[in-house]
Amino acid sequence: MTEHYDHLLQPLDLGFTQLRNRVVMGSMHTGLEDRFYNYGKLAAYFAERARGGVGLIITGGIAPNRQGWLLPLGGTMNRYGDVINHRRVTHAVHKEGGKILMQILHAGRYGYHPFVVSSGATKSPISKFKPRAMRDKEIVSTIADYGRCARLAQLAGYDGVEIMGSEGYLLNQFICKRVNQRTDRWGGAVENRMRFPVEVVKRIREKVGPKFIIAYRLSLIDLVEGGNTWDEIVTIAKALEQAGITLLNTGIGWHEARVPTIVTSVPRAAFRQVTASMRKELSIPVMASNRINTPEDAEAILASGDADLVSMARPLLADAYFVNKVAEGHPERINTCIACNQGCLDQTFSGKRATCLVNPRAAFETELVYVKTRQPKRIAVVGAGMAGMSAATVAAERGHLVTLFEARDDVGGQFTMAMAVPGKEEFKETIRYFREHLKTTGVDLRLEHAVTHEELKSFDEVIIATGVRPRLPALPGVDHGKVMHYAEVLRGEKVPGRRVAVMGAGGIGVDMCEFLLHEHDQSVEHWCQQWGVDLAVKEAGGLVAPVAPVIKREVTLLQRRPGRMGAGPGKTTGWAHRLSLLQYKVKMLAGVEYLHIDDAGLHYRSEKMDHVLDVDTIILCTGQESVVALQPDTDQAKEHWHVIGGAKLAGELDARRAIREGAELAARL
Ligand code: FAD
Ligand code: NAP
Ligand code: SF4
Repeated sequence: MTEHYDHLLQPLDLGFTQLRNRVVMGSMHTGLEDRFYNYGKLAAYFAERARGGVGLIITGGIAPNRQGWLLPLGGTMNRYGDVINHRRVTHAVHKEGGKILMQILHAGRYGYHPFVVSSGATKSPISKFKPRAMRDKEIVSTIADYGRCARLAQLAGYDGVEIMGSEGYLLNQFICKRVNQRTDRWGGAVENRMRFPVEVVKRIREKVGPKFIIAYRLSLIDLVEGGNTWDEIVTIAKALEQAGITLLNTGIGWHEARVPTIVTSVPRAAFRQVTASMRKELSIPVMASNRINTPEDAEAILASGDADLVSMARPLLADAYFVNKVAEGHPERINTCIACNQGCLDQTFSGKRATCLVNPRAAFETELVYVKTRQPKRIAVVGAGMAGMSAATVAAERGHLVTLFEARDDVGGQFTMAMAVPGKEEFKETIRYFREHLKTTGVDLRLEHAVTHEELKSFDEVIIATGVRPRLPALPGVDHGKVMHYAEVLRGEKVPGRRVAVMGAGGIGVDMCEFLLHEHDQSVEHWCQQWGVDLAVKEAGGLVAPVAPVIKREVTLLQRRPGRMGAGPGKTTGWAHRLSLLQYKVKMLAGVEYLHIDDAGLHYRSEKMDHVLDVDTIILCTGQESVVALQPDTDQAKEHWHVIGGAKLAGELDARRAIREGAELAARL
């Protein structure tokens, strides 16, 4: 056992069963649990995590009945046929020495289908479907559905269930006045509002007996108006404990909250305080969650007594072997989740299978397989950006002899600029991971080596991953002294003035605004002030007035397209970026035509009128172009010449595509 992580690696005795350590893979919907999927893929996905050493796994949400679906034909456990499917999952996990709970999730008014029900008939601001208020009889039958669902889960071989009672789903819609305006026995005082979840727990316990884990995920801070106060939350938690739960998991914020809770700009372990406060109130183990992504943070939470278990969902997507790497004394080898949501939640919300930006094998374990080669080849990879490092490490892991050439003095390419943006500090972890992985896989890394065509001739396969460079638009005055491109600013080569125009409102334009306006302050206090959060939850929902930020620059963000600005970043993160730009009073101009740049500033046309923006600096965030200097010179060379990432196509490029393309190519060679 590694001395520094002895709390993390310590088993937890639950009386009737033991968990091998304190790391829980929290629930995360991948799409594989939906009914139309082959459960073999889900079994392989969880088996790999169990093999990686995690103490307890919790599946994605499974509905207890049709009304509870998140999506039509979503994962459901209400008939014996479902048991057969799920047995493949539990068998695979148990074979690897793991334990697994099935999460029971009734989406309530968050369901995306016409059968949605809730405590009341008010539509959620983020949903399309208006719910029907549940009748008394329907609530009673839904309690029975929860009981049957848990019993079927037990028959399927699960070690327990987790009841999803937070994040604004059905049970949360009952326990908060925000949705629950009922006047019957299920509404009004907290004792009535909590009756539904308490009855659910009692029914499940009755059905499954004493030797079956029941975890309950309770919202410890709702972050919405009409949420609960701390006293109410404690009352509910105690009643759940009394009703027979084994573990209490921390839920943070409703999905409709206007406070970000899991994006990368949320400080690590930001919510440990609410879990710590709850732990003092209960005698059962409690779990901390949200934005805990490193073993150091997890260990610190456990060592200080803030929690008994630490739940990490996305970090276990990013690295299935998280716990084993800690136990083996190599935490520096962990592929850390950077909380970007691009590979996982953004995919889920677009109806696609979740995976991971930094680990394209996640949820594709049976499809993207790295088989040891029987014919090692000499492979040259040109460019140590995300695409090149991904290709080089996978090829070397498979047994090929890989040389990676990089023109600059360090690895990372464009990604090194992402980590310079306040709120994106996490991105440095991916570069650290690849740096380590290059070493452990034995890649021969040649830095400051702009490779020539001649040097590539001796290799069996050549992978060109030379990436992109900033696009300089053909605009009169683009060479004026006021003009800088994003790379010059983010690399600290040039310093912008106080009044700045940012041309281009894609992902980099929005990041540039954050860079110009925000401080690198990752403290929880600063973040709570910015978003108006009170972790003591004195007021309902834990919301207070945000503190207005100090605005150190006047920034104008422009784009040629009409319509909403900053629409580039993903669904789960874009809204938080846009709110942040508003907080910092960024002026947004869409539908503009750039005319020219001169001493007076940036001249542009909008609504048939000519204007000039009197600014000190104009920063170009106007997209990128591929770097394609190297080309094969014979037909024979062409067959062994592969182009990936930004070098292949600059449009629609992001790190997710770059890493995936590198891995997929290297898996084939
Ligand atoms: P590059 O990163 O351009 O790497 C190419 C490498 O090749 C470079 O290191 C270069 O020096 C080297 N090279 C070039 N020519 C030669 C040669 N002849 N010999 C040797 N070496 C050579 N993406 C996301 O997915 N999410 C984000 O949140 C995100 N944020 C970003 C924020 C900023 C500010 C920026 C700038 C980018 C961001 N990106 C983000 C984009 C992402 O970083 C890139 O899309 C991705 O890293 C491109 O990878 P690549 O390997 O194809 O190219
Ligand atoms: P982008 O999203 O394609 O945006 C480029 C911007 O430049 C657009 O706003 C475009 O808007 C403008 N533009 C294009 N050609 C122009 C020209 N000739 N003259 C003037 N303006 C022009 O690309 P990016 O911002 O460069 O980002 C690169 C990649 O990194 C993207 O794929 C992005 O997804 C990724 N990234 C992601 C994030 C994230 O948070 N997820 C953050 C940063 C970067 P108009 O044409 O409307 O003016
Ligand atoms: Fe984490 Fe991003 Fe991977 Fe999701 S896609 S698990 S947020 S690194």
